[in-house]
Amino acid sequence: MANRVPIREGAFMESPAGGILLANKCKSCGEVFFPKAVFCLSCFNEDMEDLRLSRKGKLYSYTIGLMASMHFEPPYAIGYVVLPEGVRIFAPLEIVESKPFRIDMEMEVIIDKLWQEDDNEVIGYKFKPV
Ligand SMILES: [Zn+2]
Repeated sequence: MANRVPIREGAFMESPAGGILLANKCKSCGEVFFPKAVFCLSCFNEDMEDLRLSRKGKLYSYTIGLMASMHFEPPYAIGYVVLPEGVRIFAPLEIVESKPFRIDMEMEVIIDKLWQEDDNEVIGYKFKPV
């Protein structure tokens, strides 16, 4: 039985509605950070509040990898998705044949196995076309 190991502790959770990314927000200037920042990197305030990010955003940029990488078999896609809270998130993208990538298309977060490491399934977040 494989263990499910999160790629980063405390960065995401699974909910009945699907995957949710966990960020935080500066109580002083409102800047949002994902992954969470210990203090605001914009105004250096230390008073931060937790924030669950929206599940859907827009594709900002992407690329298709055609060379084998350490963990991903080609072709694989990676890119940036901008969420309504104003954060731009770099993540693997799920390739869906019927929904080719277009800049600004709607994407949603999914929590999924990224790769296998011995007996561990490394679990992380991805985005897929809506
Ligand atoms: Zn701030």
